[in-house]
Amino acid sequence: MSWLTNFVLPKIRAVVTPKREVPDNLWDKCPKCEQMLFHRELEQNLFVCHNCGHHMRLDPARRLKILFDDGQYTKIELPKTVQDPLKFRDRKRYSERLKEAQAKSGPGSDALVVAHGRIGGHPAVAAVFDFSFMGGSMGIAVGEGLIAAARLAVLQEAPLIVVPASGGARMQEGILSLMQMPRSVLAVEEVKEAGLPYIVVLTDPTTGGVSASFAMLGDVTLAEPGAVIGFAGQRVIEETIREKLPEGFQRSEYLLEHGMVDMVVHRKELHETLARLIDLLRRPHPSAEVVPLPQPAA
Ligand SMILES: [Zn+2]
Repeated sequence: MSWLTNFVLPKIRAVVTPKREVPDNLWDKCPKCEQMLFHRELEQNLFVCHNCGHHMRLDPARRLKILFDDGQYTKIELPKTVQDPLKFRDRKRYSERLKEAQAKSGPGSDALVVAHGRIGGHPAVAAVFDFSFMGGSMGIAVGEGLIAAARLAVLQEAPLIVVPASGGARMQEGILSLMQMPRSVLAVEEVKEAGLPYIVVLTDPTTGGVSASFAMLGDVTLAEPGAVIGFAGQRVIEETIREKLPEGFQRSEYLLEHGMVDMVVHRKELHETLARLIDLLRRPHPSAEVVPLPQPAA
């Protein structure tokens, strides 16, 4: 009997009863307060924890959907660049790391996605970083992508919105990655020279070479709540200056208080805030109209 019940019966049951599919992504855990969050609810809440308000990192597709009117946008193809110019190798070949990252985010992709659409009815170009692609690091491809985004903005006479989420320069490209700092600055300079708004939305994290170049040059700088924004990490600074850093150091709210950020905006209000800003900045200024001077009476 035991052989029948213990061995045969489960096998028959396994064949007869249909397999119930339990999706493994039904629940997510908030990395800050460790609350278990129902995935569907979290998605409706734009990946903001409803318990503690922690803003989770977003992939480019979700980010772009939030930015543009009705979630409608058109992605542009970015210029092909040389991959692994230094034939770099650490524990693994850089070309292999690239292949692994591209296996997840699509062939030929890198840490930047550029798209255009409308925000508050105005045409707009957005360049958003993909932190899951090698820590959103900036190499040649990202530099080229930013230049392409800036030129598209000038061509369309549209504001440029950049959303960094990056650990900094792509060390596997050595000096070539550092060269992207001045290149990205020149890119946003083209937008400014054309008299078009350049808006930055700092998200978690914005550090290293990215924070030391285009990310700090916005005409208006917004930040998501609680994002880490800085050049060197907190631990490195503490070890260098041998002092404890103040509470909340390098977070959006701290930078707002110290004048590095103009507004800290909840993700739910991001689209509306951008629409309002673009509307204000693109509206013809009343003083630009030529007012005839009163003529002295003869
Ligand atoms: Zn939480």
